[in-house]
Amino acid sequence: MQDDPLLRNLNPEQLAAVTLPAQPALILAGAGSGKTRVLTTRIAWLLQQGAITPGGVMAVTFTNKAAKEMMTRLSAMLPVNVRGMWIGTFHGLCNRFLRAHWKLAGLPQSFQILDTADQLSAVKRIVKAMNLDEERYVPKQLSWFIAGSKEEGLRPRDVPVRDEHTRKMVEVYQAYEDQCQREGVVDFAELMLRTYELLRDNDPLRAHYQHRFSHVLVDEFQDTNRLQYAWLKMFAPPGNGQGVFAVGDDDQSIYGFRGALVGNMADFEREYRVERVVKLEQNYRSFGNILDAANALIAHNSRRLGKNLRTDAGPGEPVRVVESTSDFGEAQWVLEEIQQLHRGGLARKEIALLYRSNAQSRVIESALFNAGIPYRVYGGLRFFERAEVKHALAYLRLIENPNDDTSFLRVVNFPARGIGARTIEQLQDAARGTGRSLYQSVGAVAGKGGSNLAGFVGLVERLRERTRGLTLREIIEHMLHDAGLIDFYRTEKEGQDRIENLEELVNAAEAFVTQEGFGKDAVALPVDEHAPGTLSGDAPAPGPDLTPDAETGEIVSPLAAFLTHAALEAGDNQAQAGQDAVQLMTVHSAKGLEFDAVFITGMEEGLFPHENALSDSDGLEEERRLMYVAITRARQRLYLSFSQTRMLHGQTRYNVKSRFFDELPEHALKWLTPKQQGFGSGFAREYQQAWQRGSGFGSMVGAGRVAPAPPPLVPKAPSHGLRVGQSVFHTKFGEGLILTLEGQGDDARAQVNFGRHGMKWLALSVAKLTPVD
Ligand code: ATP
Ligand code: MG
Repeated sequence: MQDDPLLRNLNPEQLAAVTLPAQPALILAGAGSGKTRVLTTRIAWLLQQGAITPGGVMAVTFTNKAAKEMMTRLSAMLPVNVRGMWIGTFHGLCNRFLRAHWKLAGLPQSFQILDTADQLSAVKRIVKAMNLDEERYVPKQLSWFIAGSKEEGLRPRDVPVRDEHTRKMVEVYQAYEDQCQREGVVDFAELMLRTYELLRDNDPLRAHYQHRFSHVLVDEFQDTNRLQYAWLKMFAPPGNGQGVFAVGDDDQSIYGFRGALVGNMADFEREYRVERVVKLEQNYRSFGNILDAANALIAHNSRRLGKNLRTDAGPGEPVRVVESTSDFGEAQWVLEEIQQLHRGGLARKEIALLYRSNAQSRVIESALFNAGIPYRVYGGLRFFERAEVKHALAYLRLIENPNDDTSFLRVVNFPARGIGARTIEQLQDAARGTGRSLYQSVGAVAGKGGSNLAGFVGLVERLRERTRGLTLREIIEHMLHDAGLIDFYRTEKEGQDRIENLEELVNAAEAFVTQEGFGKDAVALPVDEHAPGTLSGDAPAPGPDLTPDAETGEIVSPLAAFLTHAALEAGDNQAQAGQDAVQLMTVHSAKGLEFDAVFITGMEEGLFPHENALSDSDGLEEERRLMYVAITRARQRLYLSFSQTRMLHGQTRYNVKSRFFDELPEHALKWLTPKQQGFGSGFAREYQQAWQRGSGFGSMVGAGRVAPAPPPLVPKAPSHGLRVGQSVFHTKFGEGLILTLEGQGDDARAQVNFGRHGMKWLALSVAKLTPVD
């Protein structure tokens, strides 16, 4: 068996896992130990053995990037056409399932997907229509409530109502569902829930899929939530004789805040009667210092299943730590380091910049942009989320389905065509009264507003007619022109960028058509050889503008497929496809990936660990797991950086370095800037020195120092006996560092940095501050 080229490079534990018999299996192992490799190799091995056909496997993971990676690894192992296989994200596979069974699922054939922003605007409309107070019924919270309920598998009627507030929220949920159904749109959570319910309620369909997939494999199992686990059980229930292969790492569970349950691993082991949990302990990704840092950090968590990781790779480079005075300085330093790494022969795509929150990327992006370094952002404000692109997509969605109210509202008066808020209100009232879509209700509005609406409907009708049978590229070009978008942006001051983005949309569509095999010579190769006739009754008859998918033979219009792609995938265009670009992403989106060099920026209290997670120990442990994920992405080099000040959400924050630094082993670190001892960063000390020198704060911001300002008047000895730079203790906020003192007597105030509790201004006549040193 070892001679088999597929299996040659596996260690004995990995080999045992890859070649397990077709039974439920759980692989529990730390980062970089080869879980994904084992999972992928197992698919290849099963195919090679002839144990399964490509159509008989389903493999699911969390991010598009991870799914693509899995397909790339698989096609490198075997000459198999991976795109026809059911390998993808939970959402991607649900979309595929619902496209095939739209009728049974009670959806229109051309149903569209609402992304998070669309969902929020749909909820806002309902809050308005129901005349609710937005302060009490915050749309964002309602969105979370709806998504959270769905992820628990709860429809409005199932949500337990304990009080009036919840009752109203459930009403909103119900109205939201009705609206989505009317418009023929589904949000992300709905994709999952709808698939689950259809399988649960339709015995022949469930039996079909259970028969079809003899093997189901799940990567990153630790991050599954209740619904995803229930969903999995529909495809492959315990005791059904299918090979169910789950791999995961409890230390990398980072979606607890969204309802993921590490407990699913224990449930899986019990319910599927897993005989032996396979553990892998050899790490093949990172050098010793990086691994030591990861192991030491995660050891501070208490609730762990317990595993060890070792490597034979030697210590490698130390983990480099750097402190900057500002986020701008940090970005500059990162930039220079990247250029050096690249000059030293490292490909840009092997360098990742990770951050805890999306908002942090802006400064780094602008540094990269100004230096002309290609970069690619995953997550964040993606190409498909930019306003002008969303406008264009809304027109395309109306071509596909004019009853999509969200898209209708987005562009009915864009570019302006004299349709005001009053007209829209009348239209919405009319639509509500009859339960029809806005598009179907335009006839009900009289007067000038009514005729302008009719003009808009005429435009959409014309677009629908003229684009019938055209290629995707032609449809988009036609739409951009006829809808007046290009003309509109020509007249705008900063419209050129937007026009370029719209042109880029044409390129994105073109790339999509090529990649997805919607080209002329696409050949339909149905993979679903087991499908009984009754089930394929759902498939639409091929029309003139419907092309079968190259591998699966599924029939979808290229436009519908492209719109789905836009809603589901991070369509990023900062760097052209295939260009060697630095990779920017949040730690969450880096899960499962690896890079030669990794920078983790913004290592500051309140940022990483995030301030929202500091109030309870569960939150803090999840932040620590997130940090563990971040560290273990690095193969050769790891950089950690923090900054004394940072502009975020329009405010300057004064930061102390992350507590995680205290949890990393000194021997594995190399401080590129002097390490300051004790609480607080070097910033506070420098501040104190600057203040004592009389040069003030202005002299130490930014990389270069300015000439000292004239010394201020020597302050009178204050009556409270405190001084700037002093460590103090507060009964509620704990230990802190005084950054500013102002006022005299009863007016005396202090600005104190309490680390995890953040910055506070305190009135010294009230607050009891006890000097610590
Ligand atoms: P994560 O928890 O981060 O998802 P993982 O456990 O899935 O990590 P992989 O991504 O599968 O780990 O593997 C990490 C790296 O180690 C990959 O580059 C993989 O090719 C390599 N690797 C895994 N097993 C071996 C092996 N037996 N010999 C050599 N390289 C290996
Ligand atoms: Mg993995």
